[in-house]
Amino acid sequence: MTIPVPAVNQDDSLVWHHTKIGNFEVRNGYQVLQRDPQARAAFGASTSVQPTEKFWNLIWSLPMPPKVRNFRWRVCTNGLATKENLHRRHCAPSPPCPICGSCPESIEHLLFQCNWTRPVWFGCDLGYLSGFNSSSSATQWTQAVLESCHIDRDRKECLGKAATVGWSLWKARNEWVFNQSEVDPMQVIRHASFLWREGCSVVALADFSPVSVNSAVQICNRWTPPPHAQVDVLPGSRGRFGIRAYGEVLNARLC
Ligand SMILES: [Zn+2]
Repeated sequence: MTIPVPAVNQDDSLVWHHTKIGNFEVRNGYQVLQRDPQARAAFGASTSVQPTEKFWNLIWSLPMPPKVRNFRWRVCTNGLATKENLHRRHCAPSPPCPICGSCPESIEHLLFQCNWTRPVWFGCDLGYLSGFNSSSSATQWTQAVLESCHIDRDRKECLGKAATVGWSLWKARNEWVFNQSEVDPMQVIRHASFLWREGCSVVALADFSPVSVNSAVQICNRWTPPPHAQVDVLPGSRGRFGIRAYGEVLNARLC
């Protein structure tokens, strides 16, 4: 019996035994969770795949507004208030997707599997028609996208654009839930495009070389038909960077 008995009567109280004085501190609680793989699985990411430090460094260095970087972090740590997460924490009566109602609204369903999101991913600049399968998590999908890129600049561009698309999907989903606004894939694509261009123009000038993202975006914005020219356009084609360009020039010649 090594537990000391107090000399005077006093009520029992809860103590946090990971600190010397017994008080709970958020920082210490986070450190304890990080050391405990079971706790990480229970309260952390929705996947057993643990992103590397390089992965997180890339997330936090994206040329995006802080709200978009924070959103991307919450996606990879299962920190979004989806119906499934709210239901698990007894904050929502049921977990089904509020848009399609066909299955629980996980982060993966919200961003990739719900039917209305597919035209967004296909129609956006990334063109990921089938980049996600049902056995993947958002983190695994992100890592697969990053592994498909060979240089850091491309990784930032892919992940940055994916983050803006995800953020725009989340905003549209919230408009549906809270304001009963119809979801519109084209509007989501436009919003994501605007965010990306805004991020490039404000944050990323030092990170991207003039011939990569910035110049490509500027080409999209500045292109005009050549003077006195005849231009044939193929409707429905799509350039890599110009999500606002719905045609592709087949032939341009001076008259
Ligand atoms: Zn759905």
